Amino acid sequence: MAEETLFSKIIRKEIPADIVYQDELVTAFNDINPRAPHHVLIVPNMVIATVNDVTEADEAALGRMITVAATLAKQRGIDEDGYRLIINCNRHGGQEVYHIHMHLLGGKPLGPMLS
Ligand code: C5P
Repeated sequence: MAEETLFSKIIRKEIPADIVYQDELVTAFNDINPRAPHHVLIVPNMVIATVNDVTEADEAALGRMITVAATLAKQRGIDEDGYRLIINCNRHGGQEVYHIHMHLLGGKPLGPMLS
């Protein structure tokens, strides 16, 4: 069992966050330090530390993360212009919180991926 991070407390609503969506598999909340006009984190409710730890048992939650990202993008009217989905993994990927999360970034041109 992976160790909990502050994201588990956000999911359980033990610490405040701007939750924009929650169901039995995933939770989405606005990033506390937004890097774009729309910056949402979509996280599985279950703790999975990194992409390296994913198993087939996680596929429903991981698939739901993308469905929720697409739905939020449509709701926010950024689907036509487009947006970026990012999952960072470990040090070289720039991961800071060791509970898998997908960044949904949009609302402006984001430029080349590695800029
Ligand atoms: O992918 P990475 O692990 O670097 O991203 C962690 C993200 O979690 C950051 O964008 C940070 O702003 C966000 N965060 C948050 N609320 C917190 C702590 C971190 O939205 N309480």
